[in-house]
Amino acid sequence: MKVLPNKQYAVIGMGRFGTSVAQSLSKLGFDVLAIDSNQQKVEDVSAWVTHAVTADSTDEDALRSLGLRNFDVVVVAIGADIQASILTTLILKEFGVPQLIVKAQSELHGKVLTKIGADKVVFPERDMGMRVAHHLISPNILEYIELSKDHSIVEIKVPSFAVGKNLKQLDIRAKYKCNVLAIKTGNELNISPLAEDVIRTDDVLVIVGKTEHLSELELDYAEG
Ligand code: ATP
Repeated sequence: MKVLPNKQYAVIGMGRFGTSVAQSLSKLGFDVLAIDSNQQKVEDVSAWVTHAVTADSTDEDALRSLGLRNFDVVVVAIGADIQASILTTLILKEFGVPQLIVKAQSELHGKVLTKIGADKVVFPERDMGMRVAHHLISPNILEYIELSKDHSIVEIKVPSFAVGKNLKQLDIRAKYKCNVLAIKTGNELNISPLAEDVIRTDDVLVIVGKTEHLSELELDYAEG
């Protein structure tokens, strides 16, 4: 079995998002340092993370004394206090943290974070809102992931008109300029689908394409 690299993770800000990241890493068996300026939040998480400390992350000396310089990955999960989020990111960037992941609350906040050197900016509320909206358009859409500004991946439960047809007959590539990456049948995943592969009831197609093209497909595949 492959042994995962033993990276040092720190998560700053124990709101709902930060708590979920720290808890998930911890459940996966990684050491996590959780930091929050609110002592109660720190007490709440201390039972299930390796270390939990109360500190203000805009205090450079405090972060230095906690050894944040030596962490491989730091997640900044402060949302509402944009100033604190930006200052914390700047300090950690200057420390030379190799991987800095920062939660943004708005597009503008995200732009600033990218400019000052965040390696990855995440928008949990926006992304979840987008997924819910896609699911609302069609309950057939099980998952929606934005890959870039223009491209996405969608997981879509096949509508009844597609059942019994093969990929060639569905002609998704020509009709929508999208590619079927995989077909899920129950727990089985066909990751190199062929033109002759026949779609069965309750199959799920994993499709990649330009977002505008996928939107057309989503609408056409909306009914079960
Ligand atoms: P979520 O939506 O994930 O619940 P949020 O985006 O509303 O969170 P906040 O609740 O504002 O974000 O902040 C998340 C956490 O970050 C809070 O627990 C807060 O105490 C903590 N926090 C805010 N500023 C600092 C700071 N300067 N240093 C450390 N922790 C901070």
